[in-house]
Amino acid sequence: MAHTIVISEFMDLPAVDLLRAKFDVLYAPDYVKQRAELLASVGDVPALIVRNLTQVDKEVLAAAPKLKVVGRLGVGLDNIDVGACEARGIKVIPASGANSLAVAEYVIGTAMLLLRTAYQSTSATANGKWLKVELGRGREIAGKTLGLIGFGAIGRLTASLAQGVGMRVIAWDPNLPSDLPLWRESRVEKCELAELLGEADVVSLHVPLLPTTRNLLNPANVAKMKAGSILINTSRGGIVDEAAVVEALKAGRIGGAAFDVFEKEPLPDSPLFKDVPGLLLTPHIAGVTAESNQRVSGMIAREVIAFLEQHG
Ligand code: NAD
Repeated sequence: MAHTIVISEFMDLPAVDLLRAKFDVLYAPDYVKQRAELLASVGDVPALIVRNLTQVDKEVLAAAPKLKVVGRLGVGLDNIDVGACEARGIKVIPASGANSLAVAEYVIGTAMLLLRTAYQSTSATANGKWLKVELGRGREIAGKTLGLIGFGAIGRLTASLAQGVGMRVIAWDPNLPSDLPLWRESRVEKCELAELLGEADVVSLHVPLLPTTRNLLNPANVAKMKAGSILINTSRGGIVDEAAVVEALKAGRIGGAAFDVFEKEPLPDSPLFKDVPGLLLTPHIAGVTAESNQRVSGMIAREVIAFLEQHG
């Protein structure tokens, strides 16, 4: 049977039902790992819905000659050949803003956890090691400086949560002019990248992966980070030099790091990241919570329905 919509990664089921109420839907969250099946399924479909792992590249586009719309269950578009979509008149719809709060909360929670260090003591405590002196040197978040690399939707929300817990916030975003009222209104100080790296106690990345941001936090820039500072990357792998950060952690030059995104995803069994002090890894879930999954999936379902009803 010819479908109208193929969904190749997980989507909140009530949102899938919204789509099913109007169209013929193939919900195949495993297709993200079954490329041949994905390619074979899109021959007649006008709509494809993906998360961040399905590569909507020239091969998929060639296999889908009738494609009119791609719904993206998230915001980064680096897995989609946006240029090729534009050239074919295919509309790409991201879930702008729908997962920003989840990412912002992840940044603040992770910063607190890494500054305090004590929360990583479960197995030591359970094993009868009472590290009260060693773990009593953790730091508070209030009064610390948060440095945001990229001051878009997620950066702004993160700034406001950070100010709520008493942080000073500085940001580097060369696309935003200095006279933008946003700077005054948000009470966030605009600065240069080198200044940010030298001053911030917590550095958090919120830029898209683009040729201009690839390898932005290269070894030279990692070396500019303030002693004892924390690095949080929820933006994209490929923006931060992973090996340079691991080296800085092992040498004790920085105080902690969290990677939610990686150069290669899913991350294979990786010796690089094993036994590294102060390192926290999560599998690209900063933006994925029960609530954000509902918001993201509901938004994409509604927008894809509206698009198909207008252009179908
Ligand atoms: P956004 O488009 O609202 O903001 C991005 C900001 O980056 C913009 O202000 C832009 O001016 C700035 N920017 C662009 N190029 C730059 C450059 N070369 N140097 C410095 N700044 C630059 O996007 P957003 O909603 O804030 O999301 C940011 C990124 O976070 C997304 O692109 C995505 O890759 C990532 N993300 C990850 C998760 C997750 O689950 N880990 C979830 C959502 C988003």
